[in-house]
Amino acid sequence: MPTAYDVDREQLAVLLSGEPAYRVQQVWDGLYRRVVWPEAMTELPARLRADLGEWLPAALQPSVERSADGGDTVKWLWGLHDGALIETVLMRYPDRATVCVSTQAGCAMACQFCATGQGGFRRHLSVGEIVEQVARAVAAARPRRLSNVVLMGMGEPLANFDRVWPAVLRLVRDMGISARHVTVSTVGVVPGIRRLAGTGVPVNLAVSLHAANDERRDQLVPINRRYPLNTLVDACAEYVHRTSRRLSFEWALIADVNDGAADAVELAAIARPLGAHVNLIPLNPTPGYPVRGSQPDVVRGFRDRLLRLGVNATIRSTRGVEIDAACGQLAARGGSGTAGAGGRYENTGAGGESGDADAAGRHGAAVTRRGPGTRPSLSVSAALPVAAITGNPQQEHRLGEQDLVP
Ligand code: SAH
Repeated sequence: MPTAYDVDREQLAVLLSGEPAYRVQQVWDGLYRRVVWPEAMTELPARLRADLGEWLPAALQPSVERSADGGDTVKWLWGLHDGALIETVLMRYPDRATVCVSTQAGCAMACQFCATGQGGFRRHLSVGEIVEQVARAVAAARPRRLSNVVLMGMGEPLANFDRVWPAVLRLVRDMGISARHVTVSTVGVVPGIRRLAGTGVPVNLAVSLHAANDERRDQLVPINRRYPLNTLVDACAEYVHRTSRRLSFEWALIADVNDGAADAVELAAIARPLGAHVNLIPLNPTPGYPVRGSQPDVVRGFRDRLLRLGVNATIRSTRGVEIDAACGQLAARGGSGTAGAGGRYENTGAGGESGDADAAGRHGAAVTRRGPGTRPSLSVSAALPVAAITGNPQQEHRLGEQDLVP
């Protein structure tokens, strides 16, 4: 069944065919400009709001919420209708906010060091499942403006182009997020990069490079065997040429694997001619890849070497490390990709809500009414033992309205 943010304007018009024509715009504005659920569209008659609540259900059911960095970083694990689990991370800054959204449940790219890759592919997300992650973040970021969207959560965006792209257009055209503040991150799906270059919509492109020679990249990022570095670099050059947008390379620094002087030289040889910015990320540990991230002094040394080689490089801040905010980590630990984990809602971070666990808190709380803008009712559902997710049963808290309302 299509969910609220799956429905396009034409489908909404069909749903509202018995209503005055202006209702279509009203509801569309409610969803995309005001970002509220039908229940909160008080300009509509109560009868219509109730109908819309049925016709436009939410796609995302809260399963786990964690916060860190004094509440500035929030990570959600959402359950989908078929039991798949996906993650969304919101990062609040003093005057704005950024959200990192998932584009697939699981991922087929099998990058060695990535928690999502280690869990395998489940399915593509729908347009609505992608857009609703942003809508939830818009609501949770208030009063800050959600200014930036990065498609850098679970999944490979360019392997799900046919849903990711309409979702991006909704964000840009309907939600008013600037294309220049949207970043598509790819492992290097070359046909997808070329397609993206042809859209004429100037989003940023981030390529997860991690190795700048084919031998090592074949190991770390298996898609490199299909699209080796020379084809990837050509596609990146086309992207920069056609869009004039900044290209960035992501580089997870792995101790003694890709953090040496020779690695920096190889990387510079690719990045410099493209004018690419390099984002250095100390590797987050994952269960299936027992190699350490580089030590902080090695990370800084690698950055300095790149700078000396004429490459613009920065070290990505490690926000949310303590809540497993890196790609796929929460789902990998808490859910093994199924809805069995549904219903747990908690908070391990300083500055978040805490409180006594009540029945819902102990046994898992599932939201049965839909979405932000409504007072969610709670129902008890099966849940993982909380320690399986948090390691700390003291810190769970009850799902409450304050957690969902825009
Ligand atoms: N599939 C897309 C987007 C999702 S991954 C891509 O590959 O770009 C988002 C980023 O997190 C990528 O740069 C990925 O390489 C990086 N990443 C994955 N696992 C990581 C880990 N364990 N430590 C640090 N970065 C990781």
